[in-house]
Order: sequence, then C-alpha cells, then structure tokens
Amino acid sequence: MFTQDQPRLRNWINGKFIDVVASGSDQAVKTIPVTSPYNAKVIGHVPLSTAADVADAVAAAQAAFPAWSSRTIKDRAAILIRFHSLLTKHVDQLADMVVLEHGKNKAEAIASVLKGQETVEYALSLPQVVQGKMLEVSRGITCYDTRVPLGVVASVVPFNFPVMVPMWTLPIAIAMGNTMVLKPSEKVPFTMTKIVELLKEAGLPDGVVNLVHGTADAVNALIDHDDVKAVTFVGTSHIAEMVSQRCHRLNKRVLALGGAKNHMISAPDRNIEMTSSDVVNSYSGCSGQRCMAATVLLTIGHQQELVDRIVAKSEALRPGSKAGEVGPVIDQASVDKITRYINEAEASGARILVDGRPWTKSQSEGFWVGPTVILHTNKQDAALHDEIFGPVLSILAVDTAEEALAIENANPYGNAACIYTNSGATADHFIKRFSAGMCGVNIGVAVPREPFSFGGWNKSRFGNHCDITGDGGVEFFSTRRKVTTKWVPQENASWMS
Ligand code: NAD
Repeated sequence: MFTQDQPRLRNWINGKFIDVVASGSDQAVKTIPVTSPYNAKVIGHVPLSTAADVADAVAAAQAAFPAWSSRTIKDRAAILIRFHSLLTKHVDQLADMVVLEHGKNKAEAIASVLKGQETVEYALSLPQVVQGKMLEVSRGITCYDTRVPLGVVASVVPFNFPVMVPMWTLPIAIAMGNTMVLKPSEKVPFTMTKIVELLKEAGLPDGVVNLVHGTADAVNALIDHDDVKAVTFVGTSHIAEMVSQRCHRLNKRVLALGGAKNHMISAPDRNIEMTSSDVVNSYSGCSGQRCMAATVLLTIGHQQELVDRIVAKSEALRPGSKAGEVGPVIDQASVDKITRYINEAEASGARILVDGRPWTKSQSEGFWVGPTVILHTNKQDAALHDEIFGPVLSILAVDTAEEALAIENANPYGNAACIYTNSGATADHFIKRFSAGMCGVNIGVAVPREPFSFGGWNKSRFGNHCDITGDGGVEFFSTRRKVTTKWVPQENASWMS
C-alpha cells in the first residue's frame, strides 16, 4: 500500500522519525491520503496520531525543557542563526515541496518560505530586545522582571502556508526557551518534515521541536495533556473557537486565529491603475487561499473604469505553476464549495463578470477554479459575507463612505481591511473606523512585517489577546517573573571603610 512515491509519514519525536502506533493491538494505524492539487494524485499517506503518540511527543519535549530553558537566550539564538542560513540554502527545495503538496505557484512558494524566514530573523534578534525592566520603586527597594518560558507549548497549523504559518510560532517559542510539539495540517504534512531535519542540522537538541501528524484527536490530546502549558492554533473560526474554549476550560493559555472576510473600499479619488492591479493580486494571489486575501470590493459610487480593468486583468490570468499564474485550490471539497457560492450568487441576480468555473473542466486533472469576479446587487448574497477561500472577488457599489463602513463593520470577522485613496485625510477617516486588526492604505494584503505583530480582531482571533508574531509572540510565549529586592546596608562592617 505504501510505496516510495506514496510514503506513509512518520512523527518526529526526540530527533527521530517514529512510526505512529495503532490505538489497539488488533487495529491498523489509520491514515488519510495526501494529494497534490495540481493533478489529484496521491503523494503520500498521513497517519492519524493517537493520544499515546501525542504523549510520547510531549514527553520528549518535557524531557528537553530543563536543559533547553536553562541555556542563555544568546545560545538558543545562535542555533536559529545557523537554521536561518540552512533555510536560505534549501529555499528552492522547500518551495518545490510547497508547490507539490499545496499547489502554490513557484514564486508564491518561495515568497512564503522567505516570509517564514523573516520570523526566524526576528527570533534570532531577541537577545537584543527582550531585556526586562528595573526600577528603584521606593528608597532601597528595587523591582525587576524577567521573562520566563512556559514549558511545552503546542502549535496547530492550517494548510494554506505549510512553512510560513509554523514559522509564526516555532522560532519565537523556542528562542524564548520553550519546547514544542507542532501538528502540521494533514493536507500538507511533508514540508515540515524537512524543516525539522534542518533544525537538527543547525544544532537544535533532540526533543526541543517535535511533530505529530493527525487531525482533531491529536489536537484534543495535545490540549488536554497536563504538560502542555500553552496552545496556538491557526485555522477556521469555528475550530479556533472550539480550541479556545477547550483551553479556557483547562485554564490553559491559548491564542487561536480564525478565518476572515476582508474588505477593500475604493474611494472615488483612488489611482485606477494601481488599485485594479492590487485588488486582483489580493483576491487571486495564492488562489485566494490567504487569510489576508481581500475578497469584497466596495466602490463608493459606480466605478465602471476600475471594474473594467479588474475584469481585464482577471481574464488575463492563466492556470499554472509559474510566477504570475494561478495554481489550483487544495482539494475537491474546496472546488465544490467555491463553485456553490458562485452558482448561488448568479441565481440571486448577481452578474458573473469573470467566470472561473470553466477551469474545473478545462484542466484535465487536479482541483481548479479560475479567478472569478461577481458584481452583486443583492446585499444578502452569501458570497459577500462568508469566507469562500478561493479566487473569488465580490464587488458591490455603495452610495457613501458611511454605507461602506457600515458593511465592513457589520462583518463578524476582523482580520484585515483596506482603503484605496489618494488622500491622507480619507485614509485616516477609514483606518480609524475599520473593524479590523490589520489595515492597509492602498495595499490589499496588508501583512504587518516584523517587528510588528500579526493578528486580527473579533471572530478572526480567539483566546489571549495578544498577536502571534513580533512582540505579541514574545508576550504569548513567556511569562514575567517579578522580583522585589531590599538589601540591608552594611555601613558598619569593618571591611567597608
Ligand atoms: P482548519 O480549521 O480546517 O484546520 C486547521 C487545523 O485544525 C489543522 O491542523 C487541522 O488538522 C486541525 N483540526 C481539524 N479539525 C479539528 C477539530 N475538530 N479540532 C481541533 N483541530 C482540528 O483550517 P484549514 O482549512 O487548514 O485552513 C484554512 C483556514 O485557516 C481559513 O479559515 C483561513 O482564513 C484560516 N487562516 C487564518 C489565519 C489567520 O492568521 N487568522 C492564517 C492562515 C489561515
């Protein structure tokens, strides 16, 4: 059943690949197939770890914690410096793995690895920035604080960025002295198996980072394990909320990032050429499978010329794996979901200005939906409200800025929003009123880069209210020990004078 071309993945525990164990002596290990979105061919089988597998990984992380946390932060960062150069050396190979298992085009895959590397850069600079503070709080009494690691932390990640999202947590967590068990997405489990080998090559001690494969059972076993002190999760809002609630019941630190429905507002004074290119890049880049993709464009007044250019640029896009081409979406369920939203909008009277549905047939194999532009008239259309997670842009003309903001503010998510304008005053007006944690001015994918932190609001983020990268990540992956000191004066000691 498992061949060299279709291997069964193994967990990475204590610096070695280990077979997943079956849950009972009479049972076989459960696996699910991993397919390449480009051609729907099975490229491997991912095992579903049981609570026993998770316990082994946590035990390895727990055993590694005392030695790892007692090293200096400079010492830990030195390993990340070596890891950073190994990432540079292997960027092409890692990007090829991302292309194969995820379906990004090669340029997007390279960019995603490099973006992950930026978090490594931030983490290796932490010795310069995480000093505590110290103050004489009253005469002779001094307070200082230090950051203390939490212990074993868990990181659960989604399919859409096989390297970048794990890198949102892993480098900062271990630089701060924690050890980690990470669960990759079962849809893209391969690339992280290369990353852990690179970490070992960089000198990371065994047990500091471990991988367990699987789905809900593995995640729940991680959350419930007494030795797991904190959990980060990135995925759909529904599951993020469940994970967050489960952690809260156990009084466990949790940061759970969820889905998104991001809005772009086009003011009448925007630059038409720049705006049309940026909008198309935002909704169709990475085949629309980005939590930062903006998929609703609200034009203040009818902006025919802008819409025409968006249509022309969308129609020019071609399927493929080269830079500028649009790759497939992750699986058949995703194709079905995306086309259902397009069908429903059409049935409710929306005009499909660019139709990506024919790609599902014109491509002989794989999971394809082309860029799609929908012009809505009915504000209730589900495509305007739900996260579709595919290359679909919904356009709605509104009469005023107030109406545009009311629509943006009413959406339950709060990841990102963008205003297109040539006026600073107009930009300020919108930025102050958006209901989103990450805002753009003339940038439809407004990802804050290090040292800024990444994180949305409302149903895009559950749990502890800090962000996932940058100083938010440092805050999440450490706790503060406060020390208050008083020293008795020794003036009378003979050796003082
Ligand atoms: P998903 O929620 O289906 O899966 C995410 C992780 O949860 C996977 O590792 C999966 O194995 C695990 N999981 C699945 N069922 C579970 C359950 N019942 N209990 C516990 N864990 C479970 O998400 P996905 O489809 O892999 O990723 C796409 C989603 O992630 C989109 O909604 C996207 O917006 C979101 N996302 C958000 C951000 C952000 O920063 N807010 C970033 C990237 C992706």
